[in-house]
Amino acid sequence: MSAVLFHQHANSHWNWRGPLIRGALRVLHPETLRELDLIRSIELSPEKIRAVQRERLEALLRHAWTETDYYREVLEECGAVRNGRVNLDRFTEIPFLTKKIMREQPERLRARSLPQGRRAFANRSGGSTGQPVDFWQDNVYWDVTIATRSYQFSMAGKELGEREMKVWGSERDLFAGTIGLKAKVENFVYNRRFEQCFHLPEQQILEIIDHINGWKPKLLWCYRDGSYAIAKYINERGIRIHSPAAVVLGGATIYPFMREEIGKAFGATVISAYGSREVGAAASECGPDRGHHVAAQAHVIEAIGEDERPVMEREGELAITPLMNFAMPLIRYRIGDRGRLTDRACPCGRGFPLLDALSGRVMEAMTNSKGEHVDGGFVIYVLTYMAEGGYMSKFQIVQEEDGSITINVVPEPGVTLAEHRTDLNLITDKIQFVMGKDCAVRFCAVPDIPSAASGKYPYVICRKPPLQRS
Ligand SMILES: [Zn+2]
Repeated sequence: MSAVLFHQHANSHWNWRGPLIRGALRVLHPETLRELDLIRSIELSPEKIRAVQRERLEALLRHAWTETDYYREVLEECGAVRNGRVNLDRFTEIPFLTKKIMREQPERLRARSLPQGRRAFANRSGGSTGQPVDFWQDNVYWDVTIATRSYQFSMAGKELGEREMKVWGSERDLFAGTIGLKAKVENFVYNRRFEQCFHLPEQQILEIIDHINGWKPKLLWCYRDGSYAIAKYINERGIRIHSPAAVVLGGATIYPFMREEIGKAFGATVISAYGSREVGAAASECGPDRGHHVAAQAHVIEAIGEDERPVMEREGELAITPLMNFAMPLIRYRIGDRGRLTDRACPCGRGFPLLDALSGRVMEAMTNSKGEHVDGGFVIYVLTYMAEGGYMSKFQIVQEEDGSITINVVPEPGVTLAEHRTDLNLITDKIQFVMGKDCAVRFCAVPDIPSAASGKYPYVICRKPPLQRS
């Protein structure tokens, strides 16, 4: 067996918050502490991880069948639960849960009662790439999410209690973590500070840089677009900045050019973490380009192929079952992202399965003239690596209803797109190679491309309706 050192305390200074947090957690969030210890006790064994996952899935299905009208009907009908008896072999027969069902039947999905000690809270999805959706979560789910995230941060090199700075793009997420005395106490105990990056005038960028240099966090937990903008600013001006152990990026798909820019700016490992408000901290990388370890003790993640069946080693649409939320069970929830699950073992030795190639929102997927799925990341790749001389300050790819492609470009100051016609023709060739010769490609110079209300910046917008499935 490979000997791997996960927890290096020896060379770091005394982290007095470590034991303090364990003490505080024991009183305030015993579930978080229990979960952290559980994760540590199973992390090396795929068998143990699977056993915990199956046990929790069984409990969730039984609860959903007992406490919700929707799942009583659905689980009974597909045979996953019959007369209160769970049959996990029928799990993949359970119909997918869609946002449409959540919007139409919220009361039928919500549990009538919860096991003792659980309390329900209302929450709402981001909705930056579609209509938001309301749902319910409970305190145990939250405690487990905190534990999972702490574990993921420790994979990135930050132990519980060491400084973390959250540079976040969504106003609501940001304020949710800072308002009230309880939040203040928790942020002190967790050693966490917040910066907002949903609106980034130069003054705000300089302030964030200043705070990072002054406080020297061990880890930066950043929203993709904000941290990319800050990194570009740092690199263009050669600004010296404190180097954390890692920059963890969340909130959206991380494209390679962003990873490069951010890694260069902070001289740090850039780690992608995958999750959402609906499902929590679902998966995270242990190192760059290794794939995301699925938090399988608390989630079932499936990739669904064209025939609506689960696939391995091939890309599909993700269906996620968060195992610990009893307030409104989400079973086989089609979250709207795509990815590829693999059987490959990770060189780090951890037994959590790997989720590769998180290739972006389903919304960011385009279709070519043959009806094939083309990831929006492809055009982003062509644009970032082919646009010689960096004359594009910002861009956005729109696939129109008729399938043609419009690329909105904010040129660098003093530059016109006409000067770069040869280059743009080459880019058009590459795009047509994949999208089809008859796919019209237009470049439009625009003064600015605004972010969505959530702070997320949509790189790809697809207006072409998805293909009808036969
Ligand atoms: Zn690993």
